[in-house]
Amino acid sequence: MFKDPQYYVQGVLDHNRLMLARTITLIESTLAAHQEMAATIIDKLLPYTGNSIRIGITGVPGAGKSTFVESFGTMLTQLGHKVAVLAIDPSSTRSGGSILGDKTRMEKLAVNENAFIRPSPSGGTLGGVARKTRETMLACEAAGFDVVIIETVGVGQSETTVASMVDFFLVLMIAGAGDELQGIKKGVLEVADAIVINKADGDNVLKAQMAQKEYQAALHLLMPESSTWSTPVLTCSALELSGVDQVWETIKDHRAALSGSGEFAQKRKKQALDWMAFLLDEGLRGWFYNDSQVKESLPLLKKEVEQEKISPTIAAATLLSYLQKTVRDGK
Ligand code: GDP
Repeated sequence: MFKDPQYYVQGVLDHNRLMLARTITLIESTLAAHQEMAATIIDKLLPYTGNSIRIGITGVPGAGKSTFVESFGTMLTQLGHKVAVLAIDPSSTRSGGSILGDKTRMEKLAVNENAFIRPSPSGGTLGGVARKTRETMLACEAAGFDVVIIETVGVGQSETTVASMVDFFLVLMIAGAGDELQGIKKGVLEVADAIVINKADGDNVLKAQMAQKEYQAALHLLMPESSTWSTPVLTCSALELSGVDQVWETIKDHRAALSGSGEFAQKRKKQALDWMAFLLDEGLRGWFYNDSQVKESLPLLKKEVEQEKISPTIAAATLLSYLQKTVRDGK
């Protein structure tokens, strides 16, 4: 690690990929000294961030996310964009590998000099992974990437986490047998800015078109009418590269519509405030659980609640009073 944070800041602002990668390594590190350094760097980079189109992509495993990102990202670089691809995969600790860890999944993009692929940071909670991904996104923006794609597998809360940090949230689906809404949670469709039915090629074209109609009908019931944007359902083939350009047109239309109405600036502001609230929650939680007296008493109090010796209310109040005491004593 270099001692002077300015060294990293300048490297990132010079669009030096190696320095960007080193900065991200600091962001992902669990060492206190690295985290402190990363925070200083991010703070200095902040004025140079925010200028990208931030796109979130989710979908069940096998929907074609990496094939789509490969085709879509390659197309964008051909249009002159610089594309960063990040991943949020809180399951990576369990499965032993990240969704983007296997670079062969995006062979072309991985060697494209106008693209930058960063797998999900391994380990930690969804909150921790989210923090690292958000800061990595900012570093990529400062390094000149004007499109940032954040990919996540459709598991747990990760989709809503991604949706809360991007401008445009895309749900990639495939036409399946039976209930078309199977496997995708209602909450995810509610935050989608577009639904894209992938694999609309060969024998599958008709099925994809039928799925498109079904989703259109489902969304109609689900979504409040918005004068600015109503979530479209598109079809594409990531493999045959058809319809992928249409997805980009849709994203640009969305940006233009929301910028025109002032909603874009509002959305970014709200996301910043939400992010602050999230960090506060996380900080308070950490503070609480790391308090020495809390650590000592928590197991005991849990047992007493279990055995109905004391009420949950008293147990919680007792633990919180320890923290108040710590604050009062200025420890
Ligand atoms: P992910 O798990 O969502 O990242 O999905 P992958 O991108 O790994 O794709 C899963 C499988 O679907 C692979 O065998 C791909 O070749 C295939 N696939 C992806 N996109 C398409 C497509 O547009 N058409 C067809 N026919 N197959 C596709």
